[in-house]
Amino acid sequence: MRLTVFGSLALDTTRTPFRTEEGIMGGAATYAALTSSMFVETEILGVIGSDFPEQYLDLLRSKVGTAGLVMKSGKKTFRYDSSFNYDLSHRTSNKTELNVIAEYEPSVPKQLKDSHYVYLANNDPLQNIKMLKQFTNPKLVVCDTIEFWIQTNPDAVKKMIGMVHGVVINDQEARMLCNMPNLIKCAKKILSWGPEFVIIKKGEHGSVLVRPDMIFIAPAYPLEEIVDPTGAGDSFAGGFMGHLASVDSTDVKAFRTAVVYGNVMGSFTVEDFGLTRLLNIGNEEITKRFRLYQTLTQL
Ligand code: AMP
Repeated sequence: MRLTVFGSLALDTTRTPFRTEEGIMGGAATYAALTSSMFVETEILGVIGSDFPEQYLDLLRSKVGTAGLVMKSGKKTFRYDSSFNYDLSHRTSNKTELNVIAEYEPSVPKQLKDSHYVYLANNDPLQNIKMLKQFTNPKLVVCDTIEFWIQTNPDAVKKMIGMVHGVVINDQEARMLCNMPNLIKCAKKILSWGPEFVIIKKGEHGSVLVRPDMIFIAPAYPLEEIVDPTGAGDSFAGGFMGHLASVDSTDVKAFRTAVVYGNVMGSFTVEDFGLTRLLNIGNEEITKRFRLYQTLTQL
């Protein structure tokens, strides 16, 4: 099975108390697709400007299908500038420059319209909706969202949520979107808008999957050192969707296993700056950490 990922491709400026990097490859779709490509054939859909460095493009092309990647010449790539607090548990968005994303007209290439597994990563919810409508027979569509879209267009975010099977969202954003503090109540409120399941990502506290018939909790893999949390949520989604697409199943066991793969992949991403760690892991390491996770959580 193939997974098709749509969302932002970015040049990120990331500031932690210990290090700052400017203009590095990022974006929600980038993290998610590079992660899922370790599980299943992945296609990335999105838009970049002519300032997107050639070596980043080459890297993407070496890992994922890029038939649906549009380059707008003479235009600037989406840029995101953010800072983390001292213990890296909280991010502040300093600047979001939509650039090419603002005028992008979503289009699914003909050969990808029959994708069964679709992940709509952080992006303009109206564009996500337009993209979603072009898939002919999707079996599982999952979306994410981020503070910027919740603040600028909450109605569109809710509309998008009403059109997908599942939502992955972080705790801060779930509270902001639902305007209530309790995360289980938030998940139930999101479910009332239409999707079949919600996964709330809680950073170092792991994640919780809520479906009407079950709740599944998965702690975060215990790390001693975190370098940069950027992209952890997108890598979670890439691992989650990548596993489901690779086994072509949405039964309970596959779902629970996918949540654990999500946590495992997020845990790799935060171990180094930007995409560095993610680009340096192999299948053996993933399997090893997955097994260790099993031993850490079994009764
Ligand atoms: P995460 O840390 O998993 O929440 O995702 C971080 C990634 O999302 C970064 O690489 C950003 O480039 C990207 N991002 C940040 N803000 C937005 C936004 N408003 N729309 C789309 N992508 C965004």
